Amino acid sequence: MTRSATALTCTLTLSIILNAPLALAKTPVATGSGGAVATISEKASQSALAILNKGGNAIDAAVAAAATLGVTDPFSCGIGGGGFMVIYLAKDKRVITIDHRETAPASFTPAVFLEGGKEIDFEKAVASGASVGVPGTVRGWHEALERYGSMKFKQVLAPAIDVATKGFTVSDTFSHLTRENEGKFRQFGTTSALYLRDGKAVTAGTTLRNPDMAKAYREIAARGQRAFYEGPMARAIVDAVNRPPVANGAQVRAGRMTLADLANYEARIRQPVLSTYRGYELYGMPLPSSGGITVAEALNILEGYDLKSLPRANAEHLYLEASRLAFADRNAYLADPEYVDAPVSGLLSKEFAAQRRAQIDLKRASANVSAGDPYAFQDDQSIPLRPQTRPLQRESAHTTHFTVSDKEGNVVSYTFTIESWGGSGIVVPGYGFLLNNEMTDFDFSGPRPNVPEAGKRPRSSMAPTIALKDGKPAFTIGSPGGATIITTVLQTIVNYVDFGMPMDAAVNAPRLSERNGAATSVEPGFGGSAQAQALSAFGHKWEDPAEEIGAANAIVFNPDGTVTAVSEGRRHGVGSALVQKSAH
Ligand code: GLU
Repeated sequence: MTRSATALTCTLTLSIILNAPLALAKTPVATGSGGAVATISEKASQSALAILNKGGNAIDAAVAAAATLGVTDPFSCGIGGGGFMVIYLAKDKRVITIDHRETAPASFTPAVFLEGGKEIDFEKAVASGASVGVPGTVRGWHEALERYGSMKFKQVLAPAIDVATKGFTVSDTFSHLTRENEGKFRQFGTTSALYLRDGKAVTAGTTLRNPDMAKAYREIAARGQRAFYEGPMARAIVDAVNRPPVANGAQVRAGRMTLADLANYEARIRQPVLSTYRGYELYGMPLPSSGGITVAEALNILEGYDLKSLPRANAEHLYLEASRLAFADRNAYLADPEYVDAPVSGLLSKEFAAQRRAQIDLKRASANVSAGDPYAFQDDQSIPLRPQTRPLQRESAHTTHFTVSDKEGNVVSYTFTIESWGGSGIVVPGYGFLLNNEMTDFDFSGPRPNVPEAGKRPRSSMAPTIALKDGKPAFTIGSPGGATIITTVLQTIVNYVDFGMPMDAAVNAPRLSERNGAATSVEPGFGGSAQAQALSAFGHKWEDPAEEIGAANAIVFNPDGTVTAVSEGRRHGVGSALVQKSAH
């Protein structure tokens, strides 16, 4: 079957599975030359394109898109949170990453989420000052622009300031997410004033302006990152964390953040995780994100099978089993590398993958597998960490991912977040942005590795990825979705590389997320499908689908020199894929 025929089949299958009108299942795809961008928001893609058209590079355009997403997608991301950016620098032919994950305030201890020795209620922890980490986004943007950009904050924030000032039209997805979070938002006066009308979610079609966020961006445009980390905005953040602006007598936990926590925040420039898969070089995010390592381990396991020659169900069974094994290792070993000596080289070794592969039964699904022992495959075996066999922690599934390239060949793959939908629920008074609840990404109780500690960054799953082939960019991929980010990136790579699907079909395909739990997470409508039945025959079990999984964005660099941007056709509303010069 040709690639385009595969695309049609998958689109049809998906629309039948999800009972949606076919037109809605059409993935936004744009092919052409010059720069390209794929985001989940039309306004954000337009901001990136405007900066590219003004001569900005991919890094400039990425910050412009991110700032606009902070306005149009404020429940997923923004300057109140943090993220991970992977950048391919065309001139140097190298990939670097910027870790601007939130850090725990200096007041944090491993007992911060315990009361009387017991873990506190997750939702109560989320909607509180105690869940807020020191935001890293502005520092990350600063590092990106200073080191690799060609423009200043003033230029790249201009499109977002315009959207925040003039407003944007509230979509069904936006209104739905607000409705889902009414309870959380109602507890905070600033948040209710911005996103609720008489205590109810803003409705689709409303024009929403955010002059306070425009003000915050203008201050950063004028004074740079210092405007955020020192002075009145920093004070407003610290006050909001320590004395949350509650409404209606709501009782929420306060945090303990100081001006020094903000002033001391640093982003980290880190070497990417490099792995290989069937002739591709994959560059992913290193710790404190578990994303790059876990995707790489699962692909190393899968590399030992000729997936494309197998019946689809057999290959998908192997995909689920490889993911399960990689997750067991992720949960046991991975955390902030400045606090924990994780056995990264062992986990990434092809020999370790071969040992893990030997555990897979080609015919039967396994359940709750134990972590492997990567130490035998590690250069430095001096500090062994006992594997932790703790049950899967609760992790939410939100965030945004997008990707940009420019005509020089620079590429950005960027995932950033405020953690849950609407983060902690606290909008900073006078500045219009939501504070994250990233600290709930720590395990609430020990033992190590991912326990809360002062200054530590909680383990993430974000997996922005850039793939090279023959030394040149081949594709980018990434997704939101908490721990399902890892499986969405993994599955999309398998769909594209092994099953030969075009990227739009690879992105569109129903998602299956196996994370070594009791059952595999699937999307609404999957349960009764032929695909589900074929996999059930191996013993796979499905979790009741709560929601769609992820909202991926990708760029493919075609052999003929053109570029194809791909976004989502139906998840999280509809995405937006644009190129500078369209091929049509
Ligand atoms: N906090 C999550 C992480 O870092 C991302 C948020 C989400 O996608 O839900 O992995």
